[in-house]
Amino acid sequence: MELCRLCLTADMPIRNSHIFSEFLYGPSYDEKHRGLYLDPGPGGGGRDILQKGPRERLLCSSCETHLSAFERYGATILRRLPILEGYHANTGIWISDVDYTKFKLFTMSLLWRASVSREVMFRKVQLGPDEEPLRRMIALANPGEPWEYGCALNQLQDIDDFKRVVMFPGEMKLEGHKGFHFMAWGYHWRFVVSSHASSLPYDELFLTPEGKLPIRVSSIKASDLVQGMLRGERVVEKPAANPGMQGTATAAPDAQARSASVTSRIGGVIADATAGQR
Ligand SMILES: [Zn+2]
Repeated sequence: MELCRLCLTADMPIRNSHIFSEFLYGPSYDEKHRGLYLDPGPGGGGRDILQKGPRERLLCSSCETHLSAFERYGATILRRLPILEGYHANTGIWISDVDYTKFKLFTMSLLWRASVSREVMFRKVQLGPDEEPLRRMIALANPGEPWEYGCALNQLQDIDDFKRVVMFPGEMKLEGHKGFHFMAWGYHWRFVVSSHASSLPYDELFLTPEGKLPIRVSSIKASDLVQGMLRGERVVEKPAANPGMQGTATAAPDAQARSASVTSRIGGVIADATAGQR
């Protein structure tokens, strides 16, 4: 009897589910509809090109429906994030009016699915004793506190190739806290998994219950973290002392947000960045 990994029941047939949400592979498809997916490999440096994102028998149809509501919302927000052109590395903005419960559960479900997956690309994510509390929170639609399985999002610059790349998760440390990270959709996703992560400056890293989502800029060329990831290393990151966050944009799911204007202060100059569509 096959159990659903989320609700732990065998009441319904188990579906062949995407481990990472299917839309995250969308920008990776080139003109031949073939994605570029990087896997650090056991010794690092391995590079796999796959035909499509991996699937696995994980969820019953009821749990797929449960998670798809968060996924749809996550995709809506990601598609409306402005392109932070002209921003210096490690500066960024806060996006306002993001639904805390839906977006947080979307990011938490990516982490959880990576952990329960037996696919080789996700082998680096082993949550151990943190896996069961995360499963319960997702099953009960409880987003928890911002620092509980919090996800920090960095928009990648210098990404001519990387827009099309999904890099499967590796381990990382953020100020001494255990974490995991991956790249997809032109973003660097960093999760912190630690019982004392509340000591982090979480409102500058993670979505807040008030709906403010910090987005920072990372340069592929300048980031030791990203370069280390490309070499398949376990990497350590320290947030900048001055977060350099600038201004606020809105991600309210209404027509106005589609052309949201961001007013930001960069180096003493007021600049406008128009929300881009991906
Ligand atoms: Zn289920």
